[in-house]
Amino acid sequence: MEKIETRNSRTVSKIVKGESTFDGEGVKLTRVIGTRELSEVDPFLLLDYFSSDNPNDYIGGFPSHPHRGFETVTYMLNGLMKHKDSNGSEGVLRAGGAQWMTAGRGVLHSELPQQEDGLLAGFQLWVNLPSALKMCEPHYANAEPDEIPEIRGDDGSIVRIIAGSYMDTRGAISGVSAEPKYLDIFLPEKSDITIPVEEGFSAFVYVFEGVIEIGEESESVDTGHLAVLGDGNTLRIRTDRSKARAILVAARPFNEPVARYGPFVMNTKEEIETAISDYRKGLFGPEVD
Ligand code: FE
Repeated sequence: MEKIETRNSRTVSKIVKGESTFDGEGVKLTRVIGTRELSEVDPFLLLDYFSSDNPNDYIGGFPSHPHRGFETVTYMLNGLMKHKDSNGSEGVLRAGGAQWMTAGRGVLHSELPQQEDGLLAGFQLWVNLPSALKMCEPHYANAEPDEIPEIRGDDGSIVRIIAGSYMDTRGAISGVSAEPKYLDIFLPEKSDITIPVEEGFSAFVYVFEGVIEIGEESESVDTGHLAVLGDGNTLRIRTDRSKARAILVAARPFNEPVARYGPFVMNTKEEIETAISDYRKGLFGPEVD
């Protein structure tokens, strides 16, 4: 067992509520990072949560679009999403699975629901790349649902480790430059867990079921809210009368200038102009269906 030093427990530095919006071909989602209120949590550039059993909210999906300069991470909670890109790779993301795509110098891809009804739910997170890697070759890490380790506590808690480590267990995805930790945490009522989080790393918690209490001061974070955490080396999360589910995401900040325009995130305005012109010249590859 990891020895947990709790003298430096993280507290909440800011709580924001996600904004309801649309992206792609009319996909209804909640944007939590990448808004006017919370433009980024370095190195995180965007966090979207989608959850609907109404096909009109998701059926259009995200047809062919480019990315350059960062990584997109999709974590599916329910339903099926098909992915296809300009390098010819293709696959289906299943409930409980994740895809970590390093867009690097650029890909064109589509993300389309593989279902006509039923619940489709999940997260998309954008993680920045340091300047030296923004133009790297695009690559993927895929984790099937059964490849994501789950730690079950005596109290009924379940922690799924998408990236990073928890309780001496390494997550499904590694080798990412921001050294991310990405945990999906389910807590039954009246639970109390302490999770080590690397000191100096940016970190946030997004609650998508129930209410959790954070830190020694027990600050409440309700469903649909994101808590940006202050620094420290551990995080204490508790529940009272309701069960809850949340993601905890942390990573090393890059502290580099960010120039962003839609699906391109670079360091300077000139690099953004180059990205737009490269895209117009077809240098990202062929459009995909
Ligand atoms: Fe995309």
